Amino acid sequence: MRRVEELLPGVTTVTPHARYYSLHAFVATALSSHGDLDPVDTLRRCEVVFGAISILHARRFPEQHRGMSQAHGHDIISASMRDGELNVAALAASGSYAQATRGFLGPYLASERLLGLVTAGGELMSPGPKSDERGLKLAFDGLLDLAKMDSIPCNILEGYSSLCLCGQHAIERTWLRSVMFPTQFLGDVGTRSRRTQTALMLCRLIEMYEPDNLSIELSRKLIADSRTYADGQLRELEILPAWRGVVLRRWYTWAWRDLWRWLVNTQMTGAVPIAQLQSALSEQLPDKKLSSFREELPDGVEAGRLVDAEYDPEICLMETGSQNLAWLMIGAGRVGQLSEHVAPYFESTKRERGNYELTPSWLRDFLSQRNDQSVRDVAFELTGVLLARSQRVAMSKSSFTNGRWRVPTRLTVRDGYAFRESNEGGGPVSLRWDQLTQVMSGLGMVRRVPGDTSGAAERWTLTRNGRDQ
Ligand SMILES: [Zn+2]
Repeated sequence: MRRVEELLPGVTTVTPHARYYSLHAFVATALSSHGDLDPVDTLRRCEVVFGAISILHARRFPEQHRGMSQAHGHDIISASMRDGELNVAALAASGSYAQATRGFLGPYLASERLLGLVTAGGELMSPGPKSDERGLKLAFDGLLDLAKMDSIPCNILEGYSSLCLCGQHAIERTWLRSVMFPTQFLGDVGTRSRRTQTALMLCRLIEMYEPDNLSIELSRKLIADSRTYADGQLRELEILPAWRGVVLRRWYTWAWRDLWRWLVNTQMTGAVPIAQLQSALSEQLPDKKLSSFREELPDGVEAGRLVDAEYDPEICLMETGSQNLAWLMIGAGRVGQLSEHVAPYFESTKRERGNYELTPSWLRDFLSQRNDQSVRDVAFELTGVLLARSQRVAMSKSSFTNGRWRVPTRLTVRDGYAFRESNEGGGPVSLRWDQLTQVMSGLGMVRRVPGDTSGAAERWTLTRNGRDQ
């Protein structure tokens, strides 16, 4: 997650809408030029009205919102408009459309400050160095007046599609694009920001492959499709090898997370003896030596070229537990085989020294020392390592709060038995590509198009704006 943040600063998993960036920038300029406004109340009212306009526009023109998630506070704002009226005052009151006092500013604020859209000054925020007061005032014309009303008929709000989050009619789009993805460095590859490079990478990959599921499809292309190595535009981007390393690490981490989820959610059916739990993975594995099990797995690097061996048909047919173990072994098998630009983003032995256990290098060594043992015994031992680690991590995070000793864990081990307190989530760490694509969609650079009768799936495509970026 830290590496993803390095490569894509300013966009997070909770900031999918480009237009909230400019909305907040607009509120900051409004607050600084109208000293009489209550900052928090103004922000909340603006977010309520903006959300309502977006909800109404999405209802009427769903195709213009394809691929975009709903406005923040959607469920509550949407439900309150059932009688054809938006009660701004009631929704903006504390605890209503948003639990947080500052509405949905919180998730965006760090990114907006990083981009220079707002600064920390003032009671809430002030316009940042990249702010464009005149442009924003035009772009959000009418919003402040609507926000000052306590109640607005929905049919009036429907006339304000220029204020919708989809950005179809947003006149500040070009400006916001230039703030988020500055282009003054064109022709000078080395000085493009990492965020801009990542956006350019995604734009080009979307143009080449028109994916339905961005993260899954493009990850595989980036690793294993020779076109991504040969393409002139992609080769210009220094950031590409770094993302390859991150994708490989994501696959590796994904396998640990899913293996753990499988163990906790499906194998802990009550108070289960630890030995029984440790056998669960072993029982899915063949009765053979670890060395021959490893040899039968496809290689993650072949003759210096990366392979998406995790998706090999043989691996896909395996049962959950053993499949995740195979992914881990393929991942660990890449240690020492990656190029100098990919390797540091797959694993940094220096940075991860304090938390070495379970890293790719650790697993490679763990396996190498046990090559002559049965793969079932090794799986038994490895599960024991996971269980012990989970308890160690939980204890290290425990604390004495309000007179109680709290240990944050979904799994408790006591007297040789383990039992589940709640389910584990599993799943991969976010690359934030989906969020960035949504942001780019709000900026008119990409578009999600419907499937067609020829059997083509719904997919992302590049627009002319995206091509010109
Ligand atoms: Zn819209």
